[in-house]
Amino acid sequence: MSKEIPPTDGLSLLFKDLFPQKTQSDLARILSELLGIPTPALTCSGTVAFIIALETLHELEPQRTQVILPAWTCPLVALAVEKIGLTPILCDLAQNSLEFDLKQLSQLSNTSTLAIVATHFAGLVCDLIAIQKIAHQHGIYLIEDAAQAMGAKTHTQSVGLIGDISFFSLAFGKGLTSAEGGVLFSRHLELHRKLLKNTAQLPTLHGWEIKRCLELIGYYCLYRPSSLSLIYGHNLRKALKNNDEISAVGDDFDQNSIPMHQLGKWRSAVAASAAQRLATHWQSAQQRATYRIQRLKQIPHLQVFEKRLDTTTTYPFLLILVDQIELCKAILDELWTRGLGVTKLFVRAINQYPALAHIPANTPNAIDFAARSFTISNSVWLDDDRFEQVVEILQKHCINKKD
Ligand SMILES: *Cc1c(COP(=O)(O)O)cnc(C)c1O
Repeated sequence: MSKEIPPTDGLSLLFKDLFPQKTQSDLARILSELLGIPTPALTCSGTVAFIIALETLHELEPQRTQVILPAWTCPLVALAVEKIGLTPILCDLAQNSLEFDLKQLSQLSNTSTLAIVATHFAGLVCDLIAIQKIAHQHGIYLIEDAAQAMGAKTHTQSVGLIGDISFFSLAFGKGLTSAEGGVLFSRHLELHRKLLKNTAQLPTLHGWEIKRCLELIGYYCLYRPSSLSLIYGHNLRKALKNNDEISAVGDDFDQNSIPMHQLGKWRSAVAASAAQRLATHWQSAQQRATYRIQRLKQIPHLQVFEKRLDTTTTYPFLLILVDQIELCKAILDELWTRGLGVTKLFVRAINQYPALAHIPANTPNAIDFAARSFTISNSVWLDDDRFEQVVEILQKHCINKKD
């Protein structure tokens, strides 16, 4: 079977992780120490962490019902807002940027707004200063969606400690995994206590827990290039053959995709065991990314997203924006099905997904970003030879291409 490079830099499991030792099995404590965050609540997914964040804030401000989201993000985030009866408000991105269009953000913010969700895409710490100012003006809470950004820092401080509430994801492909899981915390002591309390009230659902345990064992067995095409590449190619980009990247969610229950003890202990290797995992990812970004920046027509000054990033993958839609299509036509770890992050702007098409939005930049962006894996398995194959194909398309 041909080799398949995973699209992100997931941390693989070792056999010994499946038999975690009691002394090293407290995931919340380990993450608290590793990241310098309050001992977090653990949830069954990042999405459920986000839901508990919203419910907790809504208890405090019951008259506020709107939640402002980036118009290009994980569709689960918008579905989560609707699942609990709140209203998602989509804010456009600035042009050629991962940051909000601040003018629109300001126009959308008012006394009905419960929270603004700022997202650290691709592990890159986003600029919260201007967003925070707008939030303060209207008494709006700031939630940091750090699902893709565990390990990212400003100076020495973890992401998630500037906004009011933050969460990480432990889904497959986000780095550390428990086969779906979430990490939820607030820098405010009172609010943090409420998050812990509300998380503790979720039910234990044995059916879901067994399914996730089996998936985690499957991940241990199959998360390597020789077998990854079975669980990832095969579906990707099949969906792309049917012109179904949404299923190809696994963005085909609906309300039923969000079960709400406890994160099981064994799964969190497995993740705790693997978490001992996170620091070195991140370090090697940073080294790879730093060199590769410089390499990619020499190719015309491509904009590679880099960490901002004074921040560090764990680079789960590299995010690239092409300056022409057709050029992006041509690149993906050649690279998407090659097994070289090239794919798209979110294939559509939020209200361009069938399940979310009812949300009103004026977000041309988000639509454009979805059409012109792609990602290159930062997995250790994308070795230098394979990375050079990707670079060669990119050069072939981009050099001598007219403006
Ligand atoms: C993956 C992701 C989520 C959802 O996390 P899950 O753990 O998959 O529920 C939320 N926001 C962003 C930006 C994500 O990438």
